[in-house]
Amino acid sequence: MESTNDKLCKHCGKPVVATLGSYDVQEQMHWLCFHLLFEHEGAPDRPCDDPSCPWWHIAAYESKLSQIGIDPKQVISEAIDEKWKPN
Ligand SMILES: [Zn+2]
Ligand SMILES: [Zn+2]
Repeated sequence: MESTNDKLCKHCGKPVVATLGSYDVQEQMHWLCFHLLFEHEGAPDRPCDDPSCPWWHIAAYESKLSQIGIDPKQVISEAIDEKWKPN
């Protein structure tokens, strides 16, 4: 069966959908696969110094939430309840 998207990531082999517009710029990979292979420095599960790093973005959100008096862990806990707990 013909897929609607035959652009596969050269790194992980899964279809590229969300960042298909920059598929060739990302060396025919997912944006995240490209970031982790070529831009991200240090452990893959820690923030790096690239301003596009998703871990760094999460850290920035956590920092700002804490500054305005909201516990980031509580935000996630409430989001988990909303998404997975039955009403
Ligand atoms: Zn990939
Ligand atoms: Zn990074």
